[in-house]
Amino acid sequence: MPSEAKKRRRAQEPIPPKPYVKPELPASHEAQGAFSFEVGTRLEGHHGRTGVIHTPHGDIKTPAFIVVGTKATVKAVTPEQVAATGAQAMLSNAYHLYLQPGHELLDRAGGLSTFTNWQGPTYTDSGGFQVMSLGSGFKKVIDMNSVDTSGPDDAVAPGKERLANVDDDGVWFKSHLNGDKHRFTPEVSMQVQHGIGADVMFAFDELTTLHNSRGYQEEALERTRRWAERCILEHFRLTDEREGKDYQALFGVIQGAQYEDLRRQACRDLASMPFDGFGLGGALEKENLGTIVGWCAEELPEDKPRHLLGISEPDDVFWAIENGADTFDCVSPTRVARNSAFYTDHGRFNLAGRRYKEDFTPLMEGCECYTCTHYTRAYVHHLYKADELLSHTLISIHNIAFTVRLVDRAREAIENGTFFELKEKVLGDYYAKQGDPQGR
Ligand SMILES: [Zn+2]
Repeated sequence: MPSEAKKRRRAQEPIPPKPYVKPELPASHEAQGAFSFEVGTRLEGHHGRTGVIHTPHGDIKTPAFIVVGTKATVKAVTPEQVAATGAQAMLSNAYHLYLQPGHELLDRAGGLSTFTNWQGPTYTDSGGFQVMSLGSGFKKVIDMNSVDTSGPDDAVAPGKERLANVDDDGVWFKSHLNGDKHRFTPEVSMQVQHGIGADVMFAFDELTTLHNSRGYQEEALERTRRWAERCILEHFRLTDEREGKDYQALFGVIQGAQYEDLRRQACRDLASMPFDGFGLGGALEKENLGTIVGWCAEELPEDKPRHLLGISEPDDVFWAIENGADTFDCVSPTRVARNSAFYTDHGRFNLAGRRYKEDFTPLMEGCECYTCTHYTRAYVHHLYKADELLSHTLISIHNIAFTVRLVDRAREAIENGTFFELKEKVLGDYYAKQGDPQGR
């Protein structure tokens, strides 16, 4: 006779919620001293600032771009090559590493940094993103940037099967690798992330889309708040149990979509919990990105770092920094590189274009990255056209170096009091061809 739990597992049925009792959260944990944030220069009249995040695997000067290595690798680039671009930290995905090779293996290997030979701070996101991307937004066919709440809350992209189902206790996932069913809860997410061993972890949250109704956003936000409490309790329990390991910081994740009152409420709720920092998550309309980051910066404590999940376009970077984001991550620099797109001060171009066939200049004049100091557009164009893997490596190195350098320049400009001059110059040059797509 299969047990009740097994039957539910087979059916991916919601687990009936236990009655909610607000837990008593401790004010802090003594191990939290191993992680800290120092504010440096402030951007006058705005929430932007420079700072330093101290982690057991080294410091991060902020604002900083965190490179994404979803499956414990920045695609096509070695950790040493990533470090040579000036990147200070790497973010991997807890859900992917849980499925393959498994967080227990990473734990036995000595954690993410040792396993990958990445000599610096590491982050893992919680797996919460997959709640959305494998659920209502599966295959990202549902647009994340527009606000249309007319459809049903459980909409799935046309022709796709939903691979994640949310209930108040957690989420059922169906593995995209082999169809196996897996249960993620706040506790499981914490166990997985402790096993992976990154310096910064994120609380398990429910990411909604801009298409969800206001009612559903409220429901999801309350669920995320309760999950945050459970994450803290499990995180502190694991920190005690794993005494002697490096302290892993935990960031709460602010949701609330495009609604000011929900974002502010989420900030106040999570700011009252003993998190080490905060992630600003969820779907953001591009034109409101700076405003939303600003609401959060007003509500969140000054002395804790704020990470904006998933941006890297130059205009987004400047608006986010100005409004108080300290770090951000994005897959774009390496993802677009594999399609031959490269960044320059004058916009993004495509190396597959015929005009690069005999262009013996570097990807970007004046760029000091490994690719630009050794190779020409013509060579990389040839590699791409010949389906040679080295094109992915060389363009990725340049795109990471470009993005890291962009954020470094913004940091230096805050220190020198020239942030707004730099912003105007960089965005003016970058969008001159196509005009600022945000009309700002
Ligand atoms: Zn370069």
